[in-house]
Amino acid sequence: MMGKQRLKSVWVYHVDAGSCNGCDIEVLDVISPYYDLERLGVKVVPNPRHADALLITGPLTRQTRISLKKTYEAMPPKPRIVVAIGTCACSGGIWYNSYALYNTSPQRGRDRLRSGGPEMIVPIDMYIPGCPPSPEEILYGISQLLGIREKKMKGEYWYALPPEEKARKESEIEFKIPERPIPLRYWLTLREELRRVIGYFDRDAVLEDFMTLVGKAFEDEKPREKLHDLITGYFLKEKDSRVGFAMRFLENEFWRLVDEYREWGEALREKYPVTAGV
Ligand code: SF4
Repeated sequence: MMGKQRLKSVWVYHVDAGSCNGCDIEVLDVISPYYDLERLGVKVVPNPRHADALLITGPLTRQTRISLKKTYEAMPPKPRIVVAIGTCACSGGIWYNSYALYNTSPQRGRDRLRSGGPEMIVPIDMYIPGCPPSPEEILYGISQLLGIREKKMKGEYWYALPPEEKARKESEIEFKIPERPIPLRYWLTLREELRRVIGYFDRDAVLEDFMTLVGKAFEDEKPREKLHDLITGYFLKEKDSRVGFAMRFLENEFWRLVDEYREWGEALREKYPVTAGV
């Protein structure tokens, strides 16, 4: 858009499109005398009709979309630069699948593709990611916009493959799912539920311990009772009460899932004998 051209002075207007205020505080920092954005020729104006550039923070909520559109249309047609500040404004950030966001994707909820942000309704010229980006990062982005600084990094594209696999075609690579004593669907659901109880950090370790106990319980004729006894033993030995609680939670969730999916029929039971006769 701007090429190598040096913009002498830019008048900017700031719009909050539903930000948590984190990014706004950093924008305020940048215009404060400490960082002194005006020394680069950038002036914040109170009216979009006088603005060359729009600084947007926030993921674009349904409430803010109309005002953002009106603000953009109120700007003079040229140069009409739009800068997205913060991860939310770049992509919707952590709110990308929230019901409160404006999103044109036909998918809803968890299945929605990672898309969102003000680019759903206005074209963005510059993205400054970060949650929130530091004042230095915002200054750096704006100085690129003004043509004062060159971009330090150039885009490179990588496939997430180890070096020895790079030569092979992606379709030739075999993905293996680890063996577990319970169906993968149960395991994934338990993992997701456990996150709410104990967080990301301890989750996988606790779930692995639980899997070991499930494996042992199903060697017994009465797996329900056996699993309960094993978990009681674990509970008594474990010093961290949160972990003990998480194990008890897993036990209840596990049997709930088994009961819920019982009607899946013989095919499932044949494939996963662990559910047979439970
Ligand atoms: S990017 Fe982070 S700090 Fe900025 S609005 Fe979003 S959640 Fe808040």
